[in-house]
Amino acid sequence: MSLREITRRKMNQETTTTSTLYPISSSDQNVNKVENKDHQESKAKSKRYGLVSFWELPEYMKDNEYVLHYYRANWPIKEALFSIFRWHNETLNVWTHLIGFIIFVALTVANLMEVPQVAGLISFFTRSFPNSGDTNVSHGSNGFFTGGGATNLVDLKQIASSEMGANITPATTPVTRWPFLVFLAGSMFCLLSSSICHLFCCHSRRLNILLLRIDYSGITVMIITSFFPPIYYIFQCEPRWHFIYLGGVTALGIFTIVTLLSPALSAGKFRAFRALLFCSMGFFGFVPAIHAAIVNWSNPKRDITLAYESAMALFYLTGTMFYVTRIPERWKPGWFDLAGHSHQIFHVFVVFGALAHYSATLVFLEWRDRFGCA
Ligand SMILES: [Zn+2]
Repeated sequence: MSLREITRRKMNQETTTTSTLYPISSSDQNVNKVENKDHQESKAKSKRYGLVSFWELPEYMKDNEYVLHYYRANWPIKEALFSIFRWHNETLNVWTHLIGFIIFVALTVANLMEVPQVAGLISFFTRSFPNSGDTNVSHGSNGFFTGGGATNLVDLKQIASSEMGANITPATTPVTRWPFLVFLAGSMFCLLSSSICHLFCCHSRRLNILLLRIDYSGITVMIITSFFPPIYYIFQCEPRWHFIYLGGVTALGIFTIVTLLSPALSAGKFRAFRALLFCSMGFFGFVPAIHAAIVNWSNPKRDITLAYESAMALFYLTGTMFYVTRIPERWKPGWFDLAGHSHQIFHVFVVFGALAHYSATLVFLEWRDRFGCA
């Protein structure tokens, strides 16, 4: 008898002994089978919709190797949607921009519904600023697009005649609001598409690529549309600059969107390249900004608008710095998975930057409502 045969016989014997000691009826066996199946199914289910670690991710989701845990991977749309109320490493990415979106919807509605108290809440500090102490006219909520209230017109004329220099003609109607609306719409599009991207990017590779493209287009649209209010209102009396600056930045934006639509550039390693493209659009703003500062050097609103726009630039640049360097998670990988990683900080700075720009736009509107072109 071979050694193999001895082992086999011995094992058979042991099995028989066990069966004699602990007899298993056929019904028990069935129950065991069902329980086993249930257990396996629930295990499969919880494994499928459970959170996974970075090294378990499909290749297309491996973006930030310093965020180690709490990933959702290949979740169905419904599960991804409801995960907005669950804790995972994208929860705060979704909510930071969703709250920003809600704020901008509220500001847009407040402006359209002529509620200056809400619309001007942020510009409260504008009013207490020394150079703008003379701003007692509603910032143009009367007639959002063209029209204006009679009382407001009388106020405008009175203030205009008493306060303005001889070379400035008082505005007869509040200035058009479309550039302001373009900016509000662009910001809302960016913030909402970003929230949607972060919520559903865990679904599949195809949706992930599509949503990332929409997200990058959203950022580009927000940058381009941000140029509209300052350029339009500052150079209102010299429309040729509208064509040069707004045309220039729109062309740059279209180039950026087309470039970023290339799937290869959505990869994590092109993070710095994407940031550079966005920054170059931002830096383009220095040209009209310097031009505007020279032209309007004696304008009493100069300091307050420069302060707001510098705050905006500082917020955007600081946010971009976090986005590119992936600080703080690179210092302590795994520590900031749920809260505090660079992308969440970047999102918060983007919202602050957009709000600073909104405040600057209110000052431009107020100024143009009061002072027309010579
Ligand atoms: Zn984001």
